[in-house]
Amino acid sequence: MATERKSGRQASMSRRESKGAGGVRQQLAERGLSPNKRFGQNFLTDEGILSQIVDAADLSGSDTVLEIGPGAGALTRRLAERAGRVVAVEIDNGLTAMLREEFAGHPRVEIIGGDILKTDLRALFPEAAASGASPAGTAGVKAVANLPYYITTPILMQLLPMERLISRFVVMMQKEVADRMQAQPGSKDYGALTLAVQYYAKPDLVTLVPPSAFYPPPEVTSAVLCLDRYEKPPVQTGDPDRMFALVAAGFGKRRKTLVNAVTGAPQLGIDADRMREALAACGLDLQIRGEALTLAEYAKLSDALTGNI
Ligand code: SAM
Repeated sequence: MATERKSGRQASMSRRESKGAGGVRQQLAERGLSPNKRFGQNFLTDEGILSQIVDAADLSGSDTVLEIGPGAGALTRRLAERAGRVVAVEIDNGLTAMLREEFAGHPRVEIIGGDILKTDLRALFPEAAASGASPAGTAGVKAVANLPYYITTPILMQLLPMERLISRFVVMMQKEVADRMQAQPGSKDYGALTLAVQYYAKPDLVTLVPPSAFYPPPEVTSAVLCLDRYEKPPVQTGDPDRMFALVAAGFGKRRKTLVNAVTGAPQLGIDADRMREALAACGLDLQIRGEALTLAEYAKLSDALTGNI
């Protein structure tokens, strides 16, 4: 059988892949780097979890992947084996320089230095923005990431509403946040984040991940979610921003009735009588609390308040 001789860089990469936490520590130390808490750096070292993440993305050569926070590159290397193009955005200058060296000349990997929240994604993926992301599970930009936990919600709330860009997210986050994204009405985890996510995408749990899968281990259990973005939201409303303002008011005062919570939010400009009328028009109990309404009920109520039904 023919054997392939590995270059020095490839050989040191595969040594690291089999060495877990020690390999990443050594990789960083060679550059005078160490994990930076400020950027939420917990590097994933568990080979099985890395495989599960890549498998959930269901990649083929026609896929373009956005990786958020490639870190030391463990996930990047695997994504590059399956996807047609991998664009990785990393905020840490030391890691960006290290990755640029490791992937220099790689035909399918681009390392972008910068903050994902300030990156112009439409400029990075002009084809997707022009043609429209395909239905989930087929071609289109897929976002795959072990997210920096300190900004999980801002990242998803910025990327999920972007139309015609990302069709699937396979993202690791703190388990508590994943629980809130997948929650059902009536549960303690159900809240404004649940509705904000479920308006745009269908969340599915891929796997739970223990702290021991990372270097250094975080203090919390993590979860990988697959979020398939809807081409059209599952509920229709004439004014989504107004619906989300109603949701924010409803969950802002969870223990109050929705009438009291909403009339206590003067920025909405809704008085108690109008609120009661709209609730009655939607067939909802006048004493209902905001935490009891489904997404469809919020959409209907919001439209009733704006005279759209
Ligand atoms: N993907 C690597 C892995 O799985 O081992 C690293 C994941 S680590 C949890 C999060 C990564 O996101 C770090 O590399 C961190 O520097 C990077 N990061 C933090 N904030 C960022 C931001 N605003 N924009 C881009 N990258 C960021």
